[in-house]
Amino acid sequence: MQAAESQPPAAMIPIDTNTRDGLLERLERGPVICAEGYLFEFERRGYLQAGAFVPEVVLEHPQLVAQLHREFVHAGSDVVEAFTYYAHREKLRLIEKEHLLETMNRDALAIAKEVAEESGTLFAGNICNTNVFLADGEARQAVRKMFDEQGGWAADAGVDFVIGETFSWGEEALIGLEAIKAADLPAVITLAIHQEPDTREGWTPEEACKRLEDAGADVVGLNCIRGPRTMLPLLERVRATVGGHVAALPVPYRTHVEQPTFQSLRDPEYDVFPQGRPFPTALDPFTCNRYELADFAAAAYALGIRYLGLCCGAAPHHIRSIAEALGRTPAASRYTADMSKHAFLGTDERVPTEYRDYARKL
Ligand SMILES: [Zn+2]
Repeated sequence: MQAAESQPPAAMIPIDTNTRDGLLERLERGPVICAEGYLFEFERRGYLQAGAFVPEVVLEHPQLVAQLHREFVHAGSDVVEAFTYYAHREKLRLIEKEHLLETMNRDALAIAKEVAEESGTLFAGNICNTNVFLADGEARQAVRKMFDEQGGWAADAGVDFVIGETFSWGEEALIGLEAIKAADLPAVITLAIHQEPDTREGWTPEEACKRLEDAGADVVGLNCIRGPRTMLPLLERVRATVGGHVAALPVPYRTHVEQPTFQSLRDPEYDVFPQGRPFPTALDPFTCNRYELADFAAAAYALGIRYLGLCCGAAPHHIRSIAEALGRTPAASRYTADMSKHAFLGTDERVPTEYRDYARKL
């Protein structure tokens, strides 16, 4: 849809955040789309190192982070998620840059807020797996402290809600939820389910999601690790077990029953990987096409799942397909494929017959 010439472009129209609908109001109306996967996309673009996977790009190239937020919004994301994934104390300790922790978080939040405000989308904070959780008192306390400091910075920035994501321990997810609720913010909590189809303490995904819902999570579900095909059956069980809203954000890779996670995928065409497996830098041949991802979104929505998106590996054209599958026409739909005028495959009568005939030989 084109704005009339006399109107300012959408990005210039000030949004009244006081009257803007929040996450829950939007979910009551219909789907909410959330693009995740910033680590992988910046790695692919050459601005972030695979391995430690720390979002230093927030400090080194803030304009690129704002640009990627804008690309995902243009493609249909309703949420701008601050790029604070792995910007936590343990990761920064590992790369000996703990002194950058607060600036990295506050800057990431400010960048996301700017894009959310200019586009009228939701502004989300983010906490994630700490990689230090163990089921003992000391670890529980350390994890809670990490969540409290990141949750506090998110609350200071005025987020609409906080996403707690990629937890493979159900209990760690519960601690994250407690921290978000202590900051008095809505919480979307999503679990990462590896090859064993349970959390690391052995809770089924539906049991873990039910516990999170009972503890006050506003949206519960699954993200990352599994592709559409191996996440959907688990989502079906989650949807049947919890009463509230469910989230589904798979990785856009063709995982299957024998290799249900993107870490477990093996490539029959090539096996000389420096890291011994395609994950995380050689997953390209497993990428789902945009139509498969649209099919996933439609299937998940038909199950009654309303908070939908993608995680590691997601690119804007995937998000556009998901948005369109849910009946949306984001700005990027202006450029959705129309093959009718293709030089050979086109159906338009202005495409010369000789060229259309030659299409058989392409
Ligand atoms: Zn992911």
